[in-house]
Amino acid sequence: MQRIYMDANATTPLLPEVFEAMRPFYLEHYGNASSIHQQGQHARGAIDQARESIARMLHCRPAEVVFTSGGTESDNLALFGVLAPGDHLITSSIEHNAILQAAQSLGSRGVEVTVLPVTAQGIVEPTALLAALKPNTKLVSIMYANNETGVIQPIDALAGIAHAGGALFHTDAVQAGGKLPLDVSPHGFLKDVDMLTLSGHKIYAPKGIGILYVRRSVRLAPMFHGGSHERQRRAGTENVPGIVGLGKAIEICNEWLKTDGPTKLTSLRDRLEQGILSQIDETGVNGAGALRVANTTNIYFDHVEAEALLIALDLKGLSVSGGSACHSGTSEPSHVLTAMGLSAARARATIRFSLSKLTTEAEIDEALKLIPAAVAHLRELSPTYGKAATLAK
Ligand code: PLP
Repeated sequence: MQRIYMDANATTPLLPEVFEAMRPFYLEHYGNASSIHQQGQHARGAIDQARESIARMLHCRPAEVVFTSGGTESDNLALFGVLAPGDHLITSSIEHNAILQAAQSLGSRGVEVTVLPVTAQGIVEPTALLAALKPNTKLVSIMYANNETGVIQPIDALAGIAHAGGALFHTDAVQAGGKLPLDVSPHGFLKDVDMLTLSGHKIYAPKGIGILYVRRSVRLAPMFHGGSHERQRRAGTENVPGIVGLGKAIEICNEWLKTDGPTKLTSLRDRLEQGILSQIDETGVNGAGALRVANTTNIYFDHVEAEALLIALDLKGLSVSGGSACHSGTSEPSHVLTAMGLSAARARATIRFSLSKLTTEAEIDEALKLIPAAVAHLRELSPTYGKAATLAK
């Protein structure tokens, strides 16, 4: 069976060109970048080159790029690196757990935490941020694009408000990376962003590598103590193949953003979305009407348990993800969807489809056969579907 992968927000496939760029750094150029000998210097050179590629993409200085193990570490470093007891942190109710759990931990250590609500479309309103600022607000952390709905936040306005209030601004751009241009220069859209998180495995690079962009003026305390790697900001021997892969993947994404790739991906996503909405009743798009990244659609199928649908589609060869996280056998409704005002039942009836650059039209058409059939089958077993109509007869 030829599988169809529509879970790119969970992780993307590693591009063969990225793998080929990494391969020599496992097998031949395996030196430690801190070593003085030629093998070490070869590794150092490769890291410098990747750092420059990433800095070009972000329009920042190479020294402002800190390599980490991924999005979770970068998010934690941004928060723990600048906040101390007595400081105030503002974040939002739809952040990834890498932010929400870090904020909770900081809260138990004497940091004051405010979690902003979102609108029904999943947007953090700039006026809500303005109202929440306090004299001790040290950091505002709001994600750029949401991992479940793809909804894009008004980051320029939010960051501008944080700066005007004397606070630093961090954005978790894990789901914006490779999908939206990222420019932190003084003339860029993200000019007021002081720190920004990216993760390799969401942009066709390997798992276990990411970056935190840290503006030169930000004083960041390290979380790990050890060697003086990454200018004292992140101790630990560098993951050279991962860094090389991330540099290559970012170059490829940057080129792709200049082509008609994003437009084509949007039309594939829209074809899937429209196909589902027109063929299946009692469905809808969470975050509809808001600006969304090109590859994501988050759809509820009333009277269907998302987990059952996910398994039914998996058996037919289609990989998608539920709108809820599974914790030890109990299905908690997604905190993102409930923050947007969805009922627990509707949140539990939601599926996320996230396409990749490799998704084809034929795959969309095949998915549009599989999904209506699976939903119809599950609804036949549903104790609620069609009941209102039956009663009315
Ligand atoms: N932030 C967001 C928005 C994410 O979607 C993810 C991963 O799903 C992360 C952070 C964590 O990144 P990583 O898997 O690289 O630790």
